[in-house]
Amino acid sequence: MGQGRDDEERRAELEGRLAAVRERIAAACAAAGRDPDQVELMAVTKTVPAADVATLLDLGLTLFGENRAQEARAKVAEVAALRPGARPRWHFIGGLQRNKAKAVVGWADRVESVDSARLADALDRAAARAGEEGGRPGPLPVLLQYSVDGDPERGGVPADGLLSLADHVAGCAALRLEGLMAVAPLAADPEAAFADIADAAARLRSACPAASVLSAGMSGDLEVAIRHASGVVRVGTALVGCRPLASL
Ligand SMILES: *Cc1c(COP(=O)(O)O)cnc(C)c1O
Repeated sequence: MGQGRDDEERRAELEGRLAAVRERIAAACAAAGRDPDQVELMAVTKTVPAADVATLLDLGLTLFGENRAQEARAKVAEVAALRPGARPRWHFIGGLQRNKAKAVVGWADRVESVDSARLADALDRAAARAGEEGGRPGPLPVLLQYSVDGDPERGGVPADGLLSLADHVAGCAALRLEGLMAVAPLAADPEAAFADIADAAARLRSACPAASVLSAGMSGDLEVAIRHASGVVRVGTALVGCRPLASL
């Protein structure tokens, strides 16, 4: 009984948070003169249990982001067992070691954090092998992770390496380059950071017209990101609350 009531309370909480996030997105689109259909909401579900993902699926969300290869693989399987009829899309958005490429290719519908030629090569090999083994129907969609300030700690390719990395990825037969992902640096002026990110996305798109996706904006800055042309906002905290440390 207690469990059931907790589940209901959590569902109500997630429903309220989702409505609030959707309202923010709608208001930001209205302010920017953009069609809300052009901005997709990704629920970042790192550190939250599979039961929350199942509830978010019930509430109509279909796109989920994870940033830890191990945690995600288990969660993807759990969610599939909880909601066998659902078709969630899972995007990998975290730092990735090359030796984890194979594991991620097994479940990820897109990898948004490609920031080096070596990582691209590892994903290309893993995706090609998965294709041969019948595990993937086609090339693995990827985004290049762009670094605004070039800080190697947070990952991402800096501005001066962006187009050569795009060129490299375009030559990887088992990858499909779909666009750019970025995280605005905490210390930066968000206006300037997102203007820079939009500029990088535009440069990538003019070099490579199929690479048209821009994934930028999180709980704290989605409005600025939408003003600067983002097409995917990745929202964790505002949607699921403070992440329970116990599951880290
Ligand atoms: C955690 C994370 C997010 C979501 O951040 P919130 O501030 O919780 O909305 C978005 N993108 C990436 C790459 C993340 O790691």
